[in-house]
Amino acid sequence: MLNEEEPDYYEVLGVEPKADVKLIRAAYYRLAQTFHPDKNSSINSDQFQRISKAYTALSDPSLRAAYDSRRFLKITADSFLDKISLSEFEERELRLFYYSCRCGGLFQLGLIDDSDLQSSVVVNCDSCSIQILVEP
Ligand SMILES: [Zn+2]
Repeated sequence: MLNEEEPDYYEVLGVEPKADVKLIRAAYYRLAQTFHPDKNSSINSDQFQRISKAYTALSDPSLRAAYDSRRFLKITADSFLDKISLSEFEERELRLFYYSCRCGGLFQLGLIDDSDLQSSVVVNCDSCSIQILVEP
């Protein structure tokens, strides 16, 4: 996972995540021209540090691969998920629970026997790609 301190290096350099190393290098040199403390003493060096760190992480293929997988996990975790409590579902049939998706579709959760939901489960909308996390 990205920790809170690790910024999105692609954003820092202003490049697309699929940018090749030549584009990344060009973006870095362009930003370094602007932000290097030797070139511009009025700019605080934090910005240059950020740019340098981003470039270091993205210009080395193995560091970049490691960063990309952390970034992917973070993005996945962020888009994941609205957490909905089971009590917000409507039980329309015995042990069959429904919750309306914002697309107009439905999340359906069937619970076998009378057991309560034991742990959180991911439920897919029946009409779109949204998933929610249903908590007991
Ligand atoms: Zn939906």
